[in-house]
Amino acid sequence: MNNLSGKRFAIIGAGLAGIAAARGLSQRGAVVTLLEKSRGYGGRCASKRWEGHVIDHGAQYFTMRDERFREAALAACGEALERLEKPVCDENGHELPDSGRWIHRDGNSRLARELAKGLEIRTECQIDKARSLLADFDHVVSTAPWPQTAQLFDVEPAFDYLPCLAVVLAYHGEWLGRTRETYAYSSPGTAMAWTACENHKPGRIKPDFTVLVAHLGEVFSRRHLEESPADYPALVRPMVEERWEIPASAFAGAFGHRWRLARVDAPITLPTLPPRLHFVGDALRRSRVEDAWLAGHLFAQNTSFES
Ligand SMILES: Cc1cc2nc3c(=O)[nH]c(=O)nc-3n(C[C@H](O)[C@H](O)[C@H](O)COP(=O)(O)OP(=O)(O)OC[C@H]3O[C@@H](n4cnc5c(N)ncnc54)[C@H](O)[C@@H]3O)c2cc1C
Repeated sequence: MNNLSGKRFAIIGAGLAGIAAARGLSQRGAVVTLLEKSRGYGGRCASKRWEGHVIDHGAQYFTMRDERFREAALAACGEALERLEKPVCDENGHELPDSGRWIHRDGNSRLARELAKGLEIRTECQIDKARSLLADFDHVVSTAPWPQTAQLFDVEPAFDYLPCLAVVLAYHGEWLGRTRETYAYSSPGTAMAWTACENHKPGRIKPDFTVLVAHLGEVFSRRHLEESPADYPALVRPMVEERWEIPASAFAGAFGHRWRLARVDAPITLPTLPPRLHFVGDALRRSRVEDAWLAGHLFAQNTSFES
């Protein structure tokens, strides 16, 4: 691959794909600036502090099947990476295969923060037009979800992402109902596509509480997408409490989050992009933390950039 010594790259988005692309391009000699609209890094690999708990309301865990990703994640985070031991079950209570489900001890967004150490990142920097960056940069790489990137590039999106409503529910009392033995229930295609107990992530949940995260299925999410996130908890509480056998009287509080562009169900094929504008992200592979990182890493390694 050609040496990129002195070439200036702007990367839009400091999620896993953007961070991996930035690292790889820097290693080829490029001068890279990451531009992120939010205050923090990680994008959909998102965590937040809430009521004294640390919650992953985006990616729940990540796999480390690929040796390159495993090496990078371990080098950046070391012993802060922990493996979830308890099973994920289907709706009938049968355990699903486990190739290793990993979390960052302090919140999954910390994975992104650690992987980004040493990179130049401007946060709270929202880009509206990618082309205007070409006055200052030789290449612009957008890692914003493709429909947003298409807007930034002024091209037809053609592909949409699936939405996902997320709800976080806290209950008084530790390890309520069926939470102790099971980390999560996964029933893709149903309203309760995913529910998980955050207490399985050590040190994240305050003593004397049980906290559950629910990710609603596509049909349910589309139906309620435009409602206020503040109204989501009331919609899902009865379903969550029934599945986990948690008494409604233990309810302590909740919040909802709208992921309008949550994931793709198959890799997308890009149209021809304008010169010097590039897209990379999970949508080119699979909507997984590991795949987003790999997409960025491989893009940086294998792309031959015209001057
Ligand atoms: C609810 C949910 C649950 C998930 N669960 C899992 C899971 O359990 N395991 C797993 O492996 N994966 C999971 N995923 C998928 C995983 O989170 C994503 O595949 C991965 O994080 C995508 O990374 P990315 O870098 O491609 O995109 P993103 O993380 O979306 O990063 C894009 C970045 O671009 C920024 N941006 C966007 N527009 C602009 C702009 N105009 N200017 C500047 N910055 C901009 C955004 O703020 C964001 O930081 C889940 C995703 C969701 C939404």
